[in-house]
Amino acid sequence: MNVNLTTHVGGYPRIGRKRELKQALEAFWAGRLDAASLDEAARSLRLRHWQEQKGAGLDFVAVNDFSLYDNMLDLACVLGVVPERFGKANEPVTLDRYFRLARGRARKDGRPDVAPLELTKWFDTNYHYLVPELAQDQAFRFAWDKPVRELREAIEAGHRAKVVLIGPVTFLALSKTPEGDPLDFLRKLLPAYRTLLEALARAGAEWIEIAEPILASRKDGKILTALQQAWNETDGIASVKGLKFLLSVAYGPIGSALETVAALPVDGLHVDATRGQGDLPWLLKNWPVDRVLSLGVVDGRSIWRTNPETWRAVVTTFREQRPQENLWLGGSCSLLHLPHDLGEETTLDTALRSWLSFAKEKLAELVIVAAGEAPVDALAAARAAITSRKQHPGVHNTVLRNTVAALDDKAIRRDTPVAERVTLQRERLGLPLFPTTTIGSFPQTAEIRALRARLRKGIDDETAYQSGLDAALREVIRNQEKLGLDVLVHGEFERTDMVEFFGEKLEGVAVTANGWVQSYGSRCVKPPVIWGEVTRPEPMTVEASRHAQSLTGKPMKGMLTGPITILQWSFVRDDLSRSAVAAQLALAVRAEVADLEAAGIRVIQVDEPGLREGFPLDESERAAYLDWAVRAFRIATSGVRDETQIHTHMCYAEFTDVAGAIAALDADVITLEASRSRMKALGAVIEGGILSEVGPGVWDIHSPRVPEVAEISDLLVRALRVIPADRLWVNPDCGLKTRGWEETRASLKNLVAAAKALREEY
Ligand code: GLN
Ligand code: ZN
Repeated sequence: MNVNLTTHVGGYPRIGRKRELKQALEAFWAGRLDAASLDEAARSLRLRHWQEQKGAGLDFVAVNDFSLYDNMLDLACVLGVVPERFGKANEPVTLDRYFRLARGRARKDGRPDVAPLELTKWFDTNYHYLVPELAQDQAFRFAWDKPVRELREAIEAGHRAKVVLIGPVTFLALSKTPEGDPLDFLRKLLPAYRTLLEALARAGAEWIEIAEPILASRKDGKILTALQQAWNETDGIASVKGLKFLLSVAYGPIGSALETVAALPVDGLHVDATRGQGDLPWLLKNWPVDRVLSLGVVDGRSIWRTNPETWRAVVTTFREQRPQENLWLGGSCSLLHLPHDLGEETTLDTALRSWLSFAKEKLAELVIVAAGEAPVDALAAARAAITSRKQHPGVHNTVLRNTVAALDDKAIRRDTPVAERVTLQRERLGLPLFPTTTIGSFPQTAEIRALRARLRKGIDDETAYQSGLDAALREVIRNQEKLGLDVLVHGEFERTDMVEFFGEKLEGVAVTANGWVQSYGSRCVKPPVIWGEVTRPEPMTVEASRHAQSLTGKPMKGMLTGPITILQWSFVRDDLSRSAVAAQLALAVRAEVADLEAAGIRVIQVDEPGLREGFPLDESERAAYLDWAVRAFRIATSGVRDETQIHTHMCYAEFTDVAGAIAALDADVITLEASRSRMKALGAVIEGGILSEVGPGVWDIHSPRVPEVAEISDLLVRALRVIPADRLWVNPDCGLKTRGWEETRASLKNLVAAAKALREEY
């Protein structure tokens, strides 16, 4: 007879269904909340989230998945990996110190500023972790008992706890050292890691999940050797008595590392059964029946409803092969990357809503897949939803599919080579040498936000809101003219978010009310849901751009978000390839670009900060990705006349591996983040053989600091070493949305002055 299988997850959203953690953190940082109250807010979230797991019927609750900022930062603190600039190594981890690591400290009262740890993307998710910094003589010690405290809390609340820890190999592989390979620190790290495990054992821990997601992206000898060391050494993980260890690998298959993993002295293995489907036959045949095998069947990356019948069939073959108590089910990865609760989406279209499942719903799905007896009603409901999705008229548009298929090479190529185009454009636009511009957004001040709040609360009507926006528009144009900028922008005051704005206007895309996902720290994003065939029912920005252009004699940039970025920052349908969805988005943008051109807009910027983010973990998939991504951008932008100038903008990323693709975009002007790397980013892009004009950022807009004219000039001189003078633009690193007006005016004044001074020399 089939029994209910053991269920667990590797992590749960921690920000809170109403983003309570965000509110508490930001209040604490602003000095409006004390440490005890922050602690209490965090504790009540943990208790609630454990209760949700238990209430759904899971056998374990995940412990230590919670964090006030980030789990990599937590483990760094636990192991005493705190760089010198944050205080002496033996000082305790106070809240103050913890947040200084995460957020740095601004210069104050003569104290120098302290730069925070670097933030980087966590695998191929939209979550960002803090990169631990190992000193050349790094010592490790068990320095912070946070995981132990949370374990006690869970046990006291009556839960069966499974403690989740990032494994030592992943921790080191994702850290940085001044020189050498961080993995070489493993032997020095293990005793401290072991002390942590012993403390957990004393506090009553039973199962520990050691997460080694690094195996999804790296399977080289160095990683495998480190893994063997971590487990087998006499002071390795497996030597700690009284605990059971579940090694887990999320975000991809284990593949060629399976044999090595199977030889480790682990009590169980958890695999990503969604992206690692290919591992399943091997595991079925070879994973020892006396050890736990845990299948991650519920997709922690997908908001689409699970088909429980498909997974029950997969699970049955495993049930038949092994004692059922050694077969567990879980999420493919932590549920951290999902919005919390679909129950909050009261205004979403009901059909669409029935196709979705967020973290809380995934728990219920997991229990259904694991049930010994199939719960008939639940299966029927899932089947009905899945059928309704397949048959919905919005998911298949033959005309659109034919249009995409009919796009030939001519449709994705401009008529003339870029060098000739830009000469023509400079003349038409009357641009000087070293033209100045900004990236799009201007400060979203308290007034702008209040305007939006008044509309939302019904205090103002649409007319009052629009006239408020119009006043801001006129003001931002006057400011730019006064500053002497050459190509103006409208300021993007009508947009809260560059993707959601278009998500609201496109057919086939829905916007949620509360579908927040943590990006880093207290920062959350609310990705739109691309559920169907994407079309543009009507122009989205044309009237606004035409109006903005009518208010100035200077060229006004039309401002759009590119197809890859919309794709990358949305939840995307899983019943059509990403490349096909990208092409549909690209066609919608293409139509908008054409309408902007027809409305007399001479410069159109199509932002693609998400291009590098879509880069697959698996190297063998990268070339194909770049191919269709570049194609999508070209579909969007190559329908214009030679004299219409296409800009694009990129930031947040390394450009080394994508320089060839950036060149292949064939834009006329590319602005990119470059000031923090002191123009190294520009160098990397030039390597790709780019022929466009380039605007490497000369003002780091991530801080309120105003750059001096001399600093800007210095960056421009560096830029001129790799790019000819007649192809260099002068602009900030990114949009100015998060800046204040005071530093914006001062910085842009210096930026224009530096450009003018340079013109004098040429
Ligand atoms: N045009 C956008 C802005 O200025 C670009 C934002 C971005 O690159 N992330 O806000
Ligand atoms: Zn940017």
